[in-house]
Order: sequence, then C-alpha cells, then structure tokens
Amino acid sequence: MDYQEIIEEVYHQVQQENLRGKVATYIPELADIHPEQFGIALVDLNGNVFGVGDYQMTFSIQSISKVHTLTMVFHKFNTQLWYRVNVEPSGNPFNSIAQLEYEKGIPRNPFINAGALVITDALCSKYEQPTKQITDFINEISGKNCVAINQAVKDSEKNHGERNTALAYFLKSYKNFDNPVEEVLDVYFSHCAMEMNCVDLAKSFSFLANDGYSIFANRQILSESHARRVNAIMLTCGFYDEAGEFAYRVGMPGKSGVGGGVAAVMPHKFSIAVWSPELNEKGNSVKAIRALELLTDKLSFSLF
Ligand code: GLU
Repeated sequence: MDYQEIIEEVYHQVQQENLRGKVATYIPELADIHPEQFGIALVDLNGNVFGVGDYQMTFSIQSISKVHTLTMVFHKFNTQLWYRVNVEPSGNPFNSIAQLEYEKGIPRNPFINAGALVITDALCSKYEQPTKQITDFINEISGKNCVAINQAVKDSEKNHGERNTALAYFLKSYKNFDNPVEEVLDVYFSHCAMEMNCVDLAKSFSFLANDGYSIFANRQILSESHARRVNAIMLTCGFYDEAGEFAYRVGMPGKSGVGGGVAAVMPHKFSIAVWSPELNEKGNSVKAIRALELLTDKLSFSLF
C-alpha cells in the first residue's frame, strides 16, 4: 500500500473541491488563524511517516487532547470513573448545560466538555502537577518533546470560559467534582491549548492502532482491551453530535477538535492526523472529514 501516493491524491482532490466552512470564533485567539491551511500525516506501525501539505505546522489540538487525558486515567475509568462519566453518544452540542441537568450531573461521555472536565478533575486528584504530567505523557507517546502550550489561546479560553465554568460548578453541585473549579479549569484550558503538528499528533495516537503498545514510547500504554474500549468511545462519541455520520462516512475511530484537527486510527494499520481550520456547523473540520472519507474509500481494507 503506497500511503504517500494515496494521501497526496486525497489532498489534491480535497483542494479541488474547494470546501468552505468557518473558523471557530468563540475562542477569539483561534479566529486569527489562516483558514486555508491543510495538512495530512499518516504514521504506520513501523513508524514510517507520510505527509502532505501543512503537515509540519503546529496547531491547537483542543479537544483531541481529551483522548490523551482519558488514556491517563483509563484504568480508573473502568472502575471508579464509570460512575461519574457515561459512554453514550450525546446527540447534543458538546457544551450543553441542559443535557447535564437531564442526566443529573453524570456527563454522557468523556469527550463532551462536562465529561472531559470530570476526567481533568480526576487527573488533578491523581497528580501534583497535572499539566506537566499531561505534557510529559503526550511527549512520551509522540517520541519527542513536541508539545507547547499556547499561552494566548489558553488566556483567550479562560477569558471567555463562562460556559465551561458553569459546567464545572454544575458538576460540583451534583458532587461530581472533587477539586477547586479554578484549578481544574486551568489544567483543562492548558491541555486544550496544546499545540502539535500532524506528524507528532498521529504518533501520539499510534498506540491505539497497535493494541495499546506505543512504538514511540516503547511500552504498553493501555492493555489491549482498554485500547479497544477507547477506540469504541472515539467511534461513537469522537465527533460531537456528528459521530454517527463520521462512522457512516469514514468508519474510523477518531477525535476532532475546534482547532480544525482530527486524529484517527485504523487498528493494526496506521494512525493519522489531518488538520484544516475551517469547521462545519457541528464543529468538525470540513476538509479533514472529507479527506478521511476519501482516504477510506481508496484503501483496500476497512474496519468493518
Ligand atoms: N477548549 C474548547 C472548549 O472547551 C474545546 C472545544 C473542542 O475542541 O471541542 O470549548
């Protein structure tokens, strides 16, 4: 399988289609990005890297970091955290407050904001310096020190963080939040403001394509069964309330972020990161989704 040729074909086809969307503006610092950037990096399980377009440009990984944070507490998730966060697709906007009230303070899944805040709260209970631990962890599984926190993006989110703050206090009112709200939000905004390029992001997802073993960290990150479960959560909940459509059109477990990135895995084959800042109305990158759809059409194998 000539991955380089395939991703180049995909890249050019997507560029020709001239798809448009809107850059996220609710985090003002993200609104300033040059909207036409577009890159793809694919990493196979031997560590070979294939890239096209702006694949070496760093960008704000935003909610993709929720896969990393979930991984860090997954052993707890299967026991204690299960009672605090569910694993059902939400079918509602990722920052819905109404849904949290219906569900009596138990977020639908670990990828909507409320669920991710519970996971970050668990990390704050586990570690003295959670932001450093998250950074170290992502660097480790990417095989190099590649993570930088964009302070301006973090501050921008903090200054416009009313909704996330409301979700956190709401969780606290249901006794589903152990640490001080400001402390957890600071860690949450820090991991959302992390920047990486497509290559390093794809590498950081490689263990999920490889039964939990990272060839970059040279160790088992999750057990095989836990890696399978994280993939199941990504497939059903990784794309806001467009997860069903992504599973239907693309059929790969993955996670998107409002920075325009998508990281996904084809189990036992490769991991991939695609980035382009313009989003559709559900908050997913228009070009990244289309690129992954074309890619899976061109492959001779699929998950199903
Ligand atoms: N930091 C963003 C927020 O909390 C993440 C959004 C996203 O990428 O889904 O609103």
